[in-house]
Amino acid sequence: MSECIFCKIRDGEIPSDKVYEDDQVFVFRDIHPKAEVHLLMVPREHIGSLNNLAPQHDGLVAHMLRLLPQLAREQGLDDGFRTIINTGKGGGQEVFHLHIHLLGGSDLPGF
Ligand code: 5GP
Ligand code: ZN
Repeated sequence: MSECIFCKIRDGEIPSDKVYEDDQVFVFRDIHPKAEVHLLMVPREHIGSLNNLAPQHDGLVAHMLRLLPQLAREQGLDDGFRTIINTGKGGGQEVFHLHIHLLGGSDLPGF
């Protein structure tokens, strides 16, 4: 069994507040939101970080990027949104399953 928190969320072993899923990704609310809206977009495949992306993932990466504005709109973020990808310990990554943070609304901290 996987020890990865996001694989466990994918498999329903850990509950989450899911807002979207398809055959490639799933999206849920961050447990410690840093803004009014704080979603995590995660590929179904366990990919550790940006460091582990290969050409076979090009379609997945494009899918994820193109999905972000759609999700932001659905969350009412008509004015814009912020995306963050932390990579490696030096980049502040805590969960080593690739994910994109989508943040917006009130309480968005300064960058
Ligand atoms: P990272 O620092 O790796 O880029 O971000 C990991 C994020 O995952 C953090 O913002 C943290 O709050 C969130 N997180 C960690 N564990 C859980 C969990 O069990 N459920 C949810 N919904 N979010 C989590
Ligand atoms: Zn995983």
